[in-house]
Amino acid sequence: MGRRKRKEPLDEQAVFAMIVCIAALFYFNRPGLALLLVVALFAVVYFKTQKSIDSENNKTKPQASSRRKKQNAITRATPPISLDKPTEWSQELIADLDWRVFEKLCLNIWRLKGFSVEETGSGADGGVDFYIYAKETKRKIGVVQCKSWSKRQIDVKVMRELQGVVASEQLKLGLLMYSGVLSKGSNEFMKKPAVNIKAQGGADILDEIAKLPQQVQNDLLKEITAGDYQKPSCPKCDSKLVRRTAKKTGKEFWGCENFPKCRYTMH
Ligand SMILES: [Zn+2]
Repeated sequence: MGRRKRKEPLDEQAVFAMIVCIAALFYFNRPGLALLLVVALFAVVYFKTQKSIDSENNKTKPQASSRRKKQNAITRATPPISLDKPTEWSQELIADLDWRVFEKLCLNIWRLKGFSVEETGSGADGGVDFYIYAKETKRKIGVVQCKSWSKRQIDVKVMRELQGVVASEQLKLGLLMYSGVLSKGSNEFMKKPAVNIKAQGGADILDEIAKLPQQVQNDLLKEITAGDYQKPSCPKCDSKLVRRTAKKTGKEFWGCENFPKCRYTMH
């Protein structure tokens, strides 16, 4: 009877009562009735066990891993991430990239076009992501800002900042490479930018990739999708972010998996 659940004390009492009855019936020399009760007892225990196995199965089915649930009770399942690696470039793939991986893609496109690039090492919301140098003269000619915002539109503030850098450093090009959507203000801004500011969205980036030799495209795809390329990175410590729920408010947010060492959060 070791399979009985601690959560169901009534069952224990019922089984105990039946055992007492069986003992009493034997004592009063009524083996027929006692045997009947033994059979009934086995039937009850059998059905109870089946029921608890079924409910256990139902509980565990929707969760990917009960072990993970134990590790961190407040960590919620992250948005569905496909385990199959993509076999070709697409706008959806570019849109799904972690911002850090997206940045790497933009940088690599310029590198593969034959330009020297220099990362500026700024975080997710920093002003400038990398500089481009001319092939022959090695002079700094442009600046690229990468933004992969899926939840909010790319504000005109981003465009103005880029314009500021281009003007102050006297560069030929200020390029915004983005996945997501430009705000109305940004679109208006792009109609008449004061200096040479350009914006490339997902479709334009896909075009840039398509200009590369096929083998180079394939290699780039492999490099970009190696590892966990969809889960967002922490701008502070470069670990991954995980979906959590605030205990007090019940609101969901992104928190660093390195918590409590790193306390970065993103809403
Ligand atoms: Zn972190």
